[in-house]
Amino acid sequence: MLRAMKLHCFLAGNSIRSDKTLLIRNPYNGSEVGSVALAARADTEAAIAATNAFRDTPTRHCRSVILEKTRELLDARREEFARLITNEAGLALRETRYEVGRTLDVLRFAAMEALRDDGQIFSCDISPQGKARKIFTTREPLNCAVAITPFNHPLNQVAHKVAPAIAAGTPMILKPSEKAPLVALKFAELLYAAGLPGPMLSVLLGLTGEVAEPLVQDPRVDVVAFTGSVPVGKRIAATAGYKKLVLELGGNDPLIVLDDADLDLAVTLAAEGSFRNSGQRCTAVKRILVQDGIVSEFTRRLVEKTRDYLCGDPMDEATRVGTVIDEASAIYLETVVKEAVAAGAKVLIGGKRRGALLPPTVITDVPRDCRMVVCESFGPLAPIMRVGDLDDALALANSTAYGLSSGVVTTNLNSALKAIKTLRCGTVNVNEVPGFRVENSPFGGIKDSGLGVKEGVIEAIKAYSFVKTFSLPW
Ligand code: NAP
Repeated sequence: MLRAMKLHCFLAGNSIRSDKTLLIRNPYNGSEVGSVALAARADTEAAIAATNAFRDTPTRHCRSVILEKTRELLDARREEFARLITNEAGLALRETRYEVGRTLDVLRFAAMEALRDDGQIFSCDISPQGKARKIFTTREPLNCAVAITPFNHPLNQVAHKVAPAIAAGTPMILKPSEKAPLVALKFAELLYAAGLPGPMLSVLLGLTGEVAEPLVQDPRVDVVAFTGSVPVGKRIAATAGYKKLVLELGGNDPLIVLDDADLDLAVTLAAEGSFRNSGQRCTAVKRILVQDGIVSEFTRRLVEKTRDYLCGDPMDEATRVGTVIDEASAIYLETVVKEAVAAGAKVLIGGKRRGALLPPTVITDVPRDCRMVVCESFGPLAPIMRVGDLDDALALANSTAYGLSSGVVTTNLNSALKAIKTLRCGTVNVNEVPGFRVENSPFGGIKDSGLGVKEGVIEAIKAYSFVKTFSLPW
């Protein structure tokens, strides 16, 4: 058992002292993992002022060195960071080690991008209306970015905001999730130790009305980058006022499995997509749409495969599925399963929670209008829905309010191409899980899943900077 840690928020690199603390408990056994001294409204005000006042942007070289140095520091302590996430979020060690590895990639790619100048040059004598001039573009940092992150990847989601902002030279105020904030604060310590100037990063936790909402609504904030649920994202969109918004919201991604699919591959993708990270990925497989001809065999094999996903103590090396974030979430998931069963679905394995543990659950004959599949169910559920053909699958896939990502399992190129063209979502992965990506590729959804503004290291750097155009006689 790790010793309970006492952490502080950071205002422009300095620890904030406070009597109000937030206690973080391990979702598996209820033990105290640590506490955080919370920020107040005055700290939010001071952080916005300090961030806006910062002018000493380090050079591209220095920013790249800071990111690379942070990567080295994290690499040296990767197991400690993985165990901290497991301890505060209940995710199995297999998952949290993977998350630390992804974070190392984010830091490396951001360090590389910090060195890359993406300016453009336009010759102006190319039309009868033109002149002997050249137009140039260059990216400049913003004065103040705000990032608000969720609990489900409490380190990597933070890195995906902070590292591109550093690469862009834009100072940032981060508001991590209060459900798993400790790793975010430890990550900030690494950044400062690597040489990040204090005013380039503040990390605030506190009451929503004292921290998150004032940050979102302040006119001195140039951009709000939010990853989290649809209701909170829409509230931010309604209240932020005149500023840039990057919204990466919920999903209920389909995995479409056609009659011609490689069944072993389809079953592996369904299990990995549904159960990894306790099913708490925005791009987890949340609906499995299987064509009539193979649905029985697919279901039989998925139930067998599910037995491999041992659910239990997240610190146990044999465990593949830890808890969901808290007992309330497990109760919600159990409720949507019961609703589906009342509407005619059948639970073939799993379905019964113990505290915050919900074992991987395969449910078949799920009606198309059940809450479990119409809304986002953020947990290790694998609901199977029968489809007649590709057109039926595509129509069903597109039928919900979400549009984040998708997966299609087929050996037919024409089916794959039709799916890519027809699915209304941010990503289509053929013969892969919807969550497949690399950390610098464009990522993000449409419809209720987002405004179509992408993240991923390269796109995020664009969001945290603006393009200045200038021209010269030539
Ligand atoms: P959440 O409840 O929306 O919380 C996300 C963050 O918003 C937290 O830091 C939360 O602070 C903060 N927040 C709450 N109320 C706010 C307000 N009124 N104004 C500003 N910020 C506010 O989401 P979650 O439960 O942590 O995360 C799960 C959700 O995130 C799922 O829907 C998942 O699909 C989505 N997600 C999306 C992506 C993507 O890239 N599209 C990636 C990962 C997760 P507190 O902690 O203090 O409540």
